[in-house]
Amino acid sequence: NTSKKAQIGVTGLAVMGANLARNLARHGYTVALHNRSVEKTDALLEAHGSEGEFIRTETLQELVDSLESPRRILIMVKAGAPVDAVIDQLAPLLDKDDIIIDGGNSHFPDTIRREHDLSQMGLHFVGIGVSGGEEGALNGPSIMPGGSEKSYESLGPLLEDIAAKAPDGKPCCAWISTDGAGHFVKMVHNGIEYADMQVIGEAYDLLRSVAGIEPADQAEIFKKWNTTELNSYLIEITSEVLSQVDAKTGKPLIDVIVDEAGQKGTGRWTVQAALDLGSPVTGIAESVFARALSSSNPAARQQAQKELPAGVLESSQLAEEEEFIEDVRKALFASKLVSYAQGLDQLVAAGKEYGWELKLDEIAGLWRAGCIIRAELLGEIMDAYQGDTQPVNMLLAPGFKKLMEDLLPSWRRVIVKATEMGIPVPVFASSLSYYDGLRRDRLPAALIQGQRDFFGAHTYARVDSEGMWHTEWSGNR
Ligand code: NAP
Repeated sequence: NTSKKAQIGVTGLAVMGANLARNLARHGYTVALHNRSVEKTDALLEAHGSEGEFIRTETLQELVDSLESPRRILIMVKAGAPVDAVIDQLAPLLDKDDIIIDGGNSHFPDTIRREHDLSQMGLHFVGIGVSGGEEGALNGPSIMPGGSEKSYESLGPLLEDIAAKAPDGKPCCAWISTDGAGHFVKMVHNGIEYADMQVIGEAYDLLRSVAGIEPADQAEIFKKWNTTELNSYLIEITSEVLSQVDAKTGKPLIDVIVDEAGQKGTGRWTVQAALDLGSPVTGIAESVFARALSSSNPAARQQAQKELPAGVLESSQLAEEEEFIEDVRKALFASKLVSYAQGLDQLVAAGKEYGWELKLDEIAGLWRAGCIIRAELLGEIMDAYQGDTQPVNMLLAPGFKKLMEDLLPSWRRVIVKATEMGIPVPVFASSLSYYDGLRRDRLPAALIQGQRDFFGAHTYARVDSEGMWHTEWSGNR
């Protein structure tokens, strides 16, 4: 094709690549299409070729030749080795200043490595986090681009065009920071998503197991909750899931779904990165472990259900159902706030470690639409981080401090109830422990320092003098 050049090329036309290509074409861009097996390219053109201007290519060389300079090529293949395979084939065909974009769920250390290698060749490599699944890819995802700031000059306008738009009309796309920052932020987004889903699960379990509220009635409760400060995509779809009736049995669908949660790994990555950074993301970690507990050893669960004593306490009858429902709603919201605070804290730690200047107000802003964790709350988080003085922890922003005052009694009551009745609430409970740990004047960490000095002469700091101290402990060593 020697005539019209494409403004962007997409290689990898499975569901995500195909939908992003269509989104670009619908916004008036000429999009060059490529897939390893040409059948996918042809299938896309046949089904949606009329939606905009596409250029069909069969080889990577044809793809490269079809693009205007500097070239922009979006790779949307399976994360991991396939991304390296495509880069290895593509890079030798490109010219200085061309931009390779990886829009898959790549692990951020891979993105840092790829950016480093390609920049040596004079190429820009931009890892972008894309959230919102296939629907978002088509109609407007939340986009988190890393890579060089310079590459964003050429890429930004195009990405901002196809991104979701927040309630104030701003695009849910902004340059995050260099190399792997975009994929890191997307990873933490997914970690927060795990926690969001788990706290909703815990609320559902409590409403069902303590108050005996059936799924269909819970669907109505979640619908109502969606009109409160909990307003979010995940609360909305929870109502839909709970109202679904199984066609085969006539039971609530949720009762015929096996209670073993799957995961693709981004939650685990978030926790692994947090462990490396020493960042206490307890809510996200408990969410990942809750999925593991549900699915990793079904035989143990089966036996434990029959054999392990419950030792539940004789708990008082539920006094007021309405009150309990409201308590659960507040406990959910408080735990959710903690997960966001922890996720943002991890971003701050990562920024220091990797040299990224992360703007938390912008990041919260671009999660307001297009992505799975989109929620009304993100607008408030965005506000909390605007201005010159940033809170050292999200919970210390004035608005959230005040909110906590209102949520805490409910939160504590719900956890007491759950504990008395033997209902697991790993994120509700660990989030409260985090909150209490954060605000506690003296932590037992002092004792741990004493123990460490006792057995390993690791020394400790004193409250009343500078420097590090060691005690000659008497007793057995
Ligand atoms: P996918 O199933 O992850 O990958 C399939 C695509 O990868 C096909 O186009 C396939 O080409 C290509 N591919 C695999 N190995 C290759 C290789 N060695 N060389 C060249 N091409 C290769 O596709 P997807 O679900 O659309 O996801 C794409 C990326 O977006 C992934 O990183 C995924 O994690 C991420 N993502 C997905 C979602 C989602 O909801 N699905 C949401 C957000 C992000 P052939 O057709 O020739 O096999």
